[in-house]
Amino acid sequence: MITDKKTKIVATLGPASANFDTMTDMVKSGVNVFRVNCSHSNPEGIRETIRLVREVNEKNNFSVAVLADLQGPKLRVGEIEDGAMLTTGNTFILTSKPCVGNSERAYLTYETFARDVKPGERILLDDGKLMLEVEESNQVDTVKTRVIQGGSLKSRKGVNLPNTKISLPCLTKKDLEDLEAALQEEVEWVGLSFVRSGEDIRQLRGEINARKSLAKIISKIEKPEAVEDIDDILTETDAVMVARGDLGVEVPMERVPVIQKMIVKKALAKSVPIIIATQMMETMMENLSPTRAEVNDVANSMLDGADAVMLSGETSVGKYPVQVVQMMRNIIVYVEENANFHFLDEHPPTKDAGDRYITDSICYNASKIADQIGAKAILTMTHSGYTGFKISSHRPRTTVAVFTANRSILNMLSLVWGVQTFYYDKLGSTDQSFADIKEMVVQAGLAKKGDRVIKIASMPIKELGMTNTLKISEVE
Ligand code: PEP
Repeated sequence: MITDKKTKIVATLGPASANFDTMTDMVKSGVNVFRVNCSHSNPEGIRETIRLVREVNEKNNFSVAVLADLQGPKLRVGEIEDGAMLTTGNTFILTSKPCVGNSERAYLTYETFARDVKPGERILLDDGKLMLEVEESNQVDTVKTRVIQGGSLKSRKGVNLPNTKISLPCLTKKDLEDLEAALQEEVEWVGLSFVRSGEDIRQLRGEINARKSLAKIISKIEKPEAVEDIDDILTETDAVMVARGDLGVEVPMERVPVIQKMIVKKALAKSVPIIIATQMMETMMENLSPTRAEVNDVANSMLDGADAVMLSGETSVGKYPVQVVQMMRNIIVYVEENANFHFLDEHPPTKDAGDRYITDSICYNASKIADQIGAKAILTMTHSGYTGFKISSHRPRTTVAVFTANRSILNMLSLVWGVQTFYYDKLGSTDQSFADIKEMVVQAGLAKKGDRVIKIASMPIKELGMTNTLKISEVE
């Protein structure tokens, strides 16, 4: 699928957008990945939405990927009586015994809560609008807290425990059921919320492998523990999301921009794609234009080095799901044309890449040569997508055209910066394949007579081995 921008757009589906016509318009306006937020769905709803994305792809010849975003161990209060108001300075009880809450107590969806918390720890309710401090716990089911910042509390609002070592598993019963449905629908990306360590990713990978799926993992960084364990997480994960909504509740929000830059830099060095998420164009939930600060946020996230920027409420429940994508695309196209993106020389290939050392070296040098000689495109044939990720992470100025016979890999790569994807399933001679894919790039309008292109592949092509060839040629 040919896109006119390098930075990709992830859009969350919801009641405002999950229909064939709106989704088609959203893709034509610039969406590359649709996110299914499992927090607001169930296995049947997840299946239905994924099938709708497939239908949009098939009828329009798009290759949009699906990200099934698992809820993870998200904590919430239960049902609360209307008008409940917490008063600063008062006592407030949190209990794991189901009850209808009020101004004095609330049920919390976390069974071992009373054993995990310690006096002095902070509890944040409703995205941090209300704050409690733990005073004592009966170690069984009831925790007494002091209200540090009061306000009104409504049913099922989120609860964040930034200081507590939460003993809940990274995948809840709901997550496993949602995952099963998403993998049966052959989803390309699975998002894991509230990741705490690399171990959480290893567990999810185990579940994915056990179902013989090739789905890739996006780790959502939204807890302080994840920021601390970022090196191990980046080693284990396939992509990462800076989930600034919960992150800005779990850590003081002034730290989020610095954490964003740190994660982008480390992820790029490991060729791990990065999504920047939440409140990017929030104003456009209700209005036809964003604030100037939101425009700056999208541009600055691109300049930090993001692969993709994400829309959440703006496209799932907002009034203008298509217009917000058009606006985001306009910002991206302008910034890409006018800001100075350049080849990243920061992570040359290293011998510890083992078997991949030669492939890494070819990807790195292809990107470097492309910038030096002003090549119009780097053409790579792949069956796993690996070279697409690698070349993209060097951020060459040129187009990265990826050719594969695997439609799932084709869709999956839609998330990755600068990648244009093409379906190609012939296993003929190297010369014939190179001629074919060059012609496809010309047909797509990405190169013309006299332009230089760089082709990389594994020779002989039919052996499907590792990349071992780099060829520079001119379009005749
Ligand atoms: C976030 O907290 O920024 C986020 C993306 O999470 P979700 O929208 O899944 O709650």
